[in-house]
Amino acid sequence: MQIIVVGTVAFDSIETPFGAVDKILGGSAVYITLSARFFCENVGLVAVVGGDFPDENVSLLSDRGIDVDGLQVVPDGETFFWAGKYHYDLNDRETLATHLNVLSDFDPVVPEKYVDGSIVCLGNLEPGIQRNVLSQTRAPRIAIMDTMNFWIDQTPESLVETLALVDCLIINDSEARQLADEPNLVKAAARIRNMGPKSLVIKKGEHGALLFSDQGIFSAPAYPLEDIHDPTGAGDSFMGGFVGYLAARGDASVDSFKSAVVYGSAVASFCVEKFGPQRLLEITSADIERRVDDFRALAHIPAPASAF
Ligand code: AMP
Repeated sequence: MQIIVVGTVAFDSIETPFGAVDKILGGSAVYITLSARFFCENVGLVAVVGGDFPDENVSLLSDRGIDVDGLQVVPDGETFFWAGKYHYDLNDRETLATHLNVLSDFDPVVPEKYVDGSIVCLGNLEPGIQRNVLSQTRAPRIAIMDTMNFWIDQTPESLVETLALVDCLIINDSEARQLADEPNLVKAAARIRNMGPKSLVIKKGEHGALLFSDQGIFSAPAYPLEDIHDPTGAGDSFMGGFVGYLAARGDASVDSFKSAVVYGSAVASFCVEKFGPQRLLEITSADIERRVDDFRALAHIPAPASAF
């Protein structure tokens, strides 16, 4: 299957306890496409950048086989900019700046070749734009979306409208609580699934991820990493690995979703090892496969001899 990804292509300024970088390549669609490309040959990008976006960054994506036909350039506009700061608890992120810039007037166009039979991956973005992309694609398709606190705060009604149209939502635990207005994650998940998505993945940072589906709850661990430098993009690379795995398998069964959670977690565990998308540019599919084996070993629970 092929994958069409809409999301942000950005300049990010990031500060963590381990260093800081200014205006590096980032954005949800960058992390998602780079991650999905490990699994799938046909990954198309739908996004917008300004005239300030260097050609080298576009080449970086196209050299890796990502189809950039759906990337619009607004010559006299500025690229989306985000600045964030992490504290010692890396799950705790502070957004210092979000400048929508060219994103404010973004009118996405899905290239004809992705209109049919694609996995439609709605990366973190204004929910109206996510819906616009969805309306340009035809069933059968699998629609998977992400969102974040920014959009839950700014555009709640529009977000609910988009949620009603998708098969699967991937969000983190604090966003799930905020979206459902419910502190208990199991109750929050039920509420969110009632809003539309039959499947829901809740990421819990260094505590793993949960998949809620018609078959109940599946829990995957997080990989206990020694070297975490920058969590930026972890959620998006999870999504890229997740949709990439589904495209490679070509089916949307609950078992495939469970494996996709493990592959997504494996890709995300690499992403955080260096600043920005750097680590995703270094690893190979063999590295991902080895880490998936480690995940399996980590989560293996031998059938216990009865204690009673
Ligand atoms: P993640 O760490 O996976 O949540 O994603 C981080 C990426 O999301 C960064 O590269 C940012 O450029 C991008 N980003 C930050 N805020 C937003 C937003 N409001 N909408 C879309 N993308 C965003």
